[in-house]
This record gives sequence, C-alpha cells and structure tokens, in this order.
Amino acid sequence: MVTIAVTAERDDEPRVAVSPETVKKLKGLGVSVKVQQGAGTKSRFADELLRAQGAEIAPSAGEALAGADILLKVRRPTPEEVKALKPGAIVAAMLAPYDDRAGLESLAGTGAVLMAMEFMPRISRAQSMDVLSSQANLAGYKAVIDAAAMFGQALPMMMTAAGTVPAAKTFIMGVGVAGLQAIATARRLGAIVSATDVRPATKEQVASLGAKFIAVEDEEFKQAQTAAGYAKPMSAEYQKKQAELVASHIKGQDIVITTALIPGRPAPRLVTAAMVESMKPGSVIVDLAAERGGNCEMTQPGKVVQHKGVTIAGPLNLAGEVPVNASSLYAKNLLAFLETMLDKKDKSLKVNWDDELIKGTLVAKDGRIVHPSLQPQGA
Ligand code: NAD
Repeated sequence: MVTIAVTAERDDEPRVAVSPETVKKLKGLGVSVKVQQGAGTKSRFADELLRAQGAEIAPSAGEALAGADILLKVRRPTPEEVKALKPGAIVAAMLAPYDDRAGLESLAGTGAVLMAMEFMPRISRAQSMDVLSSQANLAGYKAVIDAAAMFGQALPMMMTAAGTVPAAKTFIMGVGVAGLQAIATARRLGAIVSATDVRPATKEQVASLGAKFIAVEDEEFKQAQTAAGYAKPMSAEYQKKQAELVASHIKGQDIVITTALIPGRPAPRLVTAAMVESMKPGSVIVDLAAERGGNCEMTQPGKVVQHKGVTIAGPLNLAGEVPVNASSLYAKNLLAFLETMLDKKDKSLKVNWDDELIKGTLVAKDGRIVHPSLQPQGA
C-alpha cells in the first residue's frame, strides 16, 4: 500500500498540505495517509476531522514519516525529515527552488525525488494543480481586505443624511492571478478601481471586471507577453514612460495594490519614494511583490511602515493569512497531481517520467539536481 506522510510546517507557516477532503479522496484511491498530530490545527483541520476521514494521526513527525513513500508539504522540508522516508521517496512541496542553493543540494543529496509545485506547467491539464494560481488568488483578495482595514475610511460611496462618503480610489498594478482577484474584490467593496499591466491581454480582462485600464500602450507593450503568458522585462525607455504615467495617476489614489512580477527576476520597481510622497496622508500601499524585493521602493518585506502618513505593507505570506481556504485549495492541487502518479487498478505508485507535468516539476532525483533551470550557467 502506498503511504503518504504529512508533517507540521514551520511555526510561521499556518498552511498544511492535506485537508479532510483530500484524506477522504486519497483513502478512496487505496492510499494510507499519516498526519503528524496538530499539523492541521492552524487551518482548522483538527486531528479528529482528519481521523474521521481515515487519516492515521501520528504522535510525532518521525512516526508520520517513517517508511512513507510520499511526503506532502507546503514549504521545503528538512533533509532530516526526508531521510526518515523510504529511500527514493517522492516529496511534493513549494520548494522555492531558486532560494538557498546549498539547502536544496543537501535535500537532493538524500536521494529523494523532489518535485517543486511552483514549477507546474501552466497548461490546461494542470490547471487543477496550479499552486501559484490557487494561492495568488487568495493573496489578491486578502491584500484588498487588509488595505481596507488599514485605510481608516470606507471603500464604497455612501450617501447618508449626514453627508456623502466618497468611494475609495483603488489602483491595482500587475493584473495576473492576484491582481485580477484584487480588482474583483475591490469592486465588490464598492471602490473605484483602475489597473495597469504591461501585457496587452490584460486590457480586456480589466474592463470585463468593471475597472479602468491604464497603461503605456506603445509598440513594446504589444510584444510584452512571452509565449508562456508572462511579462517580459521592459526597456529603460518603456519604464520611463510608465513611471511618468504612474506618477500622474497614483497621486489621486487612496489604495494601491502592487502585484507585478517577472519570472526568475527581482520584482520591477514601479512606485518610487517620490510617488509615495505625492499620495495623500492616510493612503495605503500593499506590496504583494515584497517577497521578491517589492514593487515599491519603500517596501520593507514582512513589515508595515509609515512614510509621511502613507502606510506601506510588504506582506510575505498573504495566502497563509487565509489558511483554511489556502490549505484546502493547496491540498486539492496536490491531490490532483498525485492522481497522475497512482495506478488506480493495482493501487501502486506508477510515475511516468516522460509526462510533462513530472518533467516540469522534477527538481532532483537519485541525489542530483536535474531541473534544466537549476543547472549552473553553461552546464
Ligand atoms: P505573475 O505573478 O508572474 O505577474 C503578475 C503580473 O505582473 C502579470 O500580469 C505581469 O504581466 C505583471 N507585470 C510584470 N511586469 C510588470 C510591469 N513592469 N508593470 C506592470 N505589470 C507588470 O503572473 P501570474 O499571476 O502568475 O499570471 C501570469 C499569466 O499566466 C497570466 O496571463 C495568467 O492569466 C496566466 N495563467 C495561465 C494559467 C493556465 O493557463 N493554466 C494559469 C494561471 C495563470
């Protein structure tokens, strides 16, 4: 019988890689699931709820891991955790493969099969396994909720006998998965919403959500989307034009949510200190790109700072602040991926190493880092 282990995450990570729903489905597939006691507590998946769906609750991480075929995690596990698994076991997690190379190498050195969920190809077949989307969507939502809480004013226009409350002006920078949800959430709260991106495909998406699209729409803009659907780094000339446009727009905004990213690069700097200083006191910036250095020059990753009355938040794990939903969706992403590796008839593990989902996510195998994007330059 295939055994899956789920252990508790580090203290600052409220999410967990399993849910009562996925335990039930895995049991239905003939898989045994061992969960470390208390691992789901912060996501409100109490041990009893998991046990009721067929999970075995292990009193310690070591007992959950011992001899398991697969380890599911949110964050990168430690080599010690992985060594407790069966030799050559599979680990599926958000491995942050570009961070801490030495740590990744020691993890690879355990001989485990490491699969980075962030590398899941963004093709239709893998949509249900796309952890970047499931988590970014919640982060976009929470960014607006947090901004609204820090704003100290209402978002919708209210006409009352005592006077009129104006609608808050909200500007979303970067219209990927997080940005689209931020637009939708801000609209639902009654804000006046505008948004910007460098990919032309976003123009229609912004309009369809009832927001105003603002961008430098020159020849370079028309070419800004890569074949993979991501943004390209823009030229210095484009950045200058974009900065002028943003500077004139941002000074009238109450809330700014920045989400702009370019794969494998630091976040583009879109909001300068001068732009922050042009905003009204009481305005709020929530910088979702904080983990990659931030879109705003004044962002301090992991902190909320004030500059001349403007609040600038640089949250590092917003999806983790909606842990119940984030864990449920993440666990379902993992389940959908695991289903591709489980033979339903004889209930065994059958990994198709030629499958593009496996090839795309496979970071290490047989003690070596194998992913093409992680090879040393020129190798
Ligand atoms: P992302 O997190 O890499 O970037 C967020 C946004 O920032 C992107 O829209 C990007 O264009 C924008 N950006 C980058 N540089 C910018 C700049 N200088 N100024 C303004 N904006 C800038 O993006 P994401 O959320 O991962 O989504 C990227 C694309 O992938 C989207 O088109 C999305 O719809 C698509 N997608 C496809 C699938 C699928 O087909 N399965 C799944 C998820 C997402």
